[in-house]
Amino acid sequence: MTWSDWKWQLQNRITQLADLETKITLTTEERDSFAKAYDQFQFAVTPYYLGRIDNKDPHCPIRKQILPRAGELVRKQNETDDPLAEEIHMPVKGVTHRYPDRAIWYISHVCAVYCRFCTRKRKVSTPEETPNRSEWEKALDYFRGETKLKEVILSGGDPLTLSDSSLDYLLGELKKIPHLNQIRIHTRHPVTMPMRLTESLNSVFSKYFPLYMVTHFNHPNEISDETKFYVMRMIKEGHVSIFNQSVLLSGINDDANILSDLNYKLISIGIKPYYLHQCDEVFGSSDFVVPLEKGIEIYRKLRGFHSGITIPSYVKDLTGGGGKVLLSPDYLQKKTDKGYLFQNYLGDEYEVGH
Ligand code: SF4
Repeated sequence: MTWSDWKWQLQNRITQLADLETKITLTTEERDSFAKAYDQFQFAVTPYYLGRIDNKDPHCPIRKQILPRAGELVRKQNETDDPLAEEIHMPVKGVTHRYPDRAIWYISHVCAVYCRFCTRKRKVSTPEETPNRSEWEKALDYFRGETKLKEVILSGGDPLTLSDSSLDYLLGELKKIPHLNQIRIHTRHPVTMPMRLTESLNSVFSKYFPLYMVTHFNHPNEISDETKFYVMRMIKEGHVSIFNQSVLLSGINDDANILSDLNYKLISIGIKPYYLHQCDEVFGSSDFVVPLEKGIEIYRKLRGFHSGITIPSYVKDLTGGGGKVLLSPDYLQKKTDKGYLFQNYLGDEYEVGH
């Protein structure tokens, strides 16, 4: 097994402080925060993604996404364990069905890298949460019986931690369901372990055309020659359409030039920028949140100044499960004492903090 083998990358993930310190120099704050934050949410990074860190730069945008920090232990009033209310709309284990026409299926709770701002840190990194085979069958039965469903989104954790044969089986069963119009796969492996996009996975995916993949690049430094090679090969051989969702993150990508650079680089390798998310109000995320006014100002500098195909939609997923709202300057007119008022797709009003 070698560097370019994704199983080697997974097996050789760095998960402990002592190992990490043999690879990069930590600040005192990073070292002190590690153990405390680890108790709340595990640490793991692939050798590949760790290698993207600039060790000389304490503000390296990749380092900041993965190293535990003290702010993770601070719980603000607006923060919850399950900001998108995914657990209360769960008809069978591992499936969130909130909107009439689509459902999310969490088929793995393992990721190659654990991002410190993860919305699902309440269960991601806990392998016991991953559905087993009999639970797969219950979920598939549920999808077969729900004739209004048009889309199933394979998510997690990272669904691409499953074997090719498991993915082949699940995609095959989903594609047999006549009322499903499309299948989507949400994965961060193109970012954190691009060698997962193997030729054999491409062969599996090519059987189920059209397939839609949504990945999660946040910064241009995450795009390497390896990313380019594996992503472009998957698009050509796996016949997969790939989109990207970024999270707007303080001190990481809260700058129009960085986002524009990222979005042009994505387009150049065949990935369409899809969403720019306001960071979810998950516990311990406040250090990452960019104020709405600043986010809208950044977005204003993207729209119109750059090619339309490089522009994602800037959205906020409403805390409490109200769905996504588009963020636009209009909302700044609807200021309240605590934040801003938003109306979701059903016309319900939600207040979002400053
Ligand atoms: S890859 Fe996605 S699910 Fe996994 S830790 Fe990062 S944000 Fe969370």
